[in-house]
Amino acid sequence: MHMDKQKELERMRSVRPPQYWQSLDFAQLVKDYPPPPDYFNTIYVMPPEQIRELQARRFKTQIERAWQVPFYARRWKEAGLTPADIRTPEDLVKIPTYTVENIRESMANNPPWGDFMGVTPADGANFPLVLQTSGGTTGLPRPMLYSPQDREIMAILGSRRLVMHGVRPGDMVLVTRALGLANGGFHMREALWKYTGSVPVMTGSGKITPTRRQIEIMKAWGVNVIAGFPAYLRHMAMVARDEMGIDPRSLGVHSLDSNLGMEDRKSVEELWGAPCYDFYGAHESGMIAADCVHQNGMHIQQDAFIVEILDPHTGKPVPPGEKGNICVTTLFKHSAPLIRYNINDVSCIMPGQCACGSTLPRLEKIFGRSDNMIKLRGVNVFPEAIGALIAEDPRSNGEYICVVDRVGADARDEMTVMVEVADNSVNRAELQLALERRLHEALAVKVVLTIADKGGLDELTGTSQTTKPKRLLDKRKG
Ligand SMILES: [Zn+2]
Repeated sequence: MHMDKQKELERMRSVRPPQYWQSLDFAQLVKDYPPPPDYFNTIYVMPPEQIRELQARRFKTQIERAWQVPFYARRWKEAGLTPADIRTPEDLVKIPTYTVENIRESMANNPPWGDFMGVTPADGANFPLVLQTSGGTTGLPRPMLYSPQDREIMAILGSRRLVMHGVRPGDMVLVTRALGLANGGFHMREALWKYTGSVPVMTGSGKITPTRRQIEIMKAWGVNVIAGFPAYLRHMAMVARDEMGIDPRSLGVHSLDSNLGMEDRKSVEELWGAPCYDFYGAHESGMIAADCVHQNGMHIQQDAFIVEILDPHTGKPVPPGEKGNICVTTLFKHSAPLIRYNINDVSCIMPGQCACGSTLPRLEKIFGRSDNMIKLRGVNVFPEAIGALIAEDPRSNGEYICVVDRVGADARDEMTVMVEVADNSVNRAELQLALERRLHEALAVKVVLTIADKGGLDELTGTSQTTKPKRLLDKRKG
C-alpha cells in the first residue's frame, strides 16, 4: 500500500500532460483562418478564383488526412478509388457520399468511436482532446473528439458568425443553448470568449436556468444579445411580458442569434424589438454559413468548407437556385475530416451577389430535414414549413406539433397538426378553419388541425424545457 502511494507520487511529479498552449502555432492559425475583423477584409471579399485556389490547396491536405482514416480508406477502396483519383475539388463528384446512417453503422461496428474518428483518447497523451456530441434525442448521442486544431478553428468560424450577428466587444451574450454533452453551448462559449471580446452568460436551456431567472439575470447584468432556438426566444419574451410584466423590448437587446430554419423571423424580432440572424452548422463540421446584416441568405465560409447541393434522388449536384440536400466537405479537420457528408438538410445556393459586397455564395435558408420529410398522398411535407405557416397567424403563439399516423382500413398516412392559441380569448373554431384552409392551400394536401390551450403542447414539444423543441411525432414507427 505504502509503495503504491509512493509510486503515485512519483507519477504525479513526472508525467507531463500535453499543453493546449503548446499544441498549436496560434500566430499561423489566425493567419490561415482569420478571426474578425480580418476575415471581413480578406476571405469575405476574396475574388472567387482566389478562393478556389485556396480551397484546392487545403483540399489536397484534407484528402491526404482522410486516406489515413479507416472509414474513408475502406469506402473509397470499395468504390475503386486510389489517391491518384482524388486530386482537386473537381474530383469530389467521384467520391461516394455518406449520411448519419453510415456514421451510426461505423460506431456500431467499431465501438465506441467508430472508424471515422481519426483520433482516440489514447492520442490525448500527445495533444489535448475534447469531446462533445450531437443534440441526440433518441439513444446515445453521437460523440465527436476534437483535436486542438479542429476546436480552435471551429471557435474562429463561430466568432465570425457572431460578429456578423452584431456581437461587439463588451457585449453581454446570453447563451440559452444546451450545456452538457451537446456541442451547442460550449462551442459558443469558446467562440464568444476567445474571439469576440464579448462576455458569454451561460444560462443554458430553461431546464438548467428557469426562464424567469434568465430574464432577471438579463435585467441585472445588462445582457444585450441572446442566442437560442427561435421557439425558446419566443417563449422567453412571452414569459417576460405575460408572467413578469416586463416588456421584452425594454430590456435593451440589440441582436438575436438563432438557427431559424423555417421558423418565422418576424415574430421573434417583433417580440424583442431586435433583428434575429440565422446560421447553419453541425457539431461534426462547425459553423458552415451565417446571415449578414442584410438577412438575405447565409454566406458559406468557403475557406473552411466546400458545400454542394445534391439532388435527393440522383445524388448529383444541382445548379444554383435549385433545392437539394446539403453535402459538406471540410478543409481544416484533423480528428475526423468530413468528405462529402450528406447532412440531409434541404437548402439551395442563392444565385447572384449579396448587397453586403461579400463574394461568398449564400445558402438561402434551411427548408427542413429531408429525413424529417413526410410523404402525404404523394406530396412532400416538412413540419418546419408548417411551423412557418402557423407563425403567420397572430391568433396562435407559433407553438405546434405534427402527429403522423397510419389510419383507416386502407392504412393511409394522415397528419394532425396541433396548434396552441396565443391567448384564451381567441375564437378556436375560426382559427382552426383558417389554418386548415391556409395549410391546404400552401401544402397542396389536406391535414387535420386541432387547437390546444396556450402551453398545452409543452409536454409534447418540450419548448419550455429543452433547447430543441420536438415538431414531429411519428406514430407509424411504434
Ligand atoms: Zn451579405
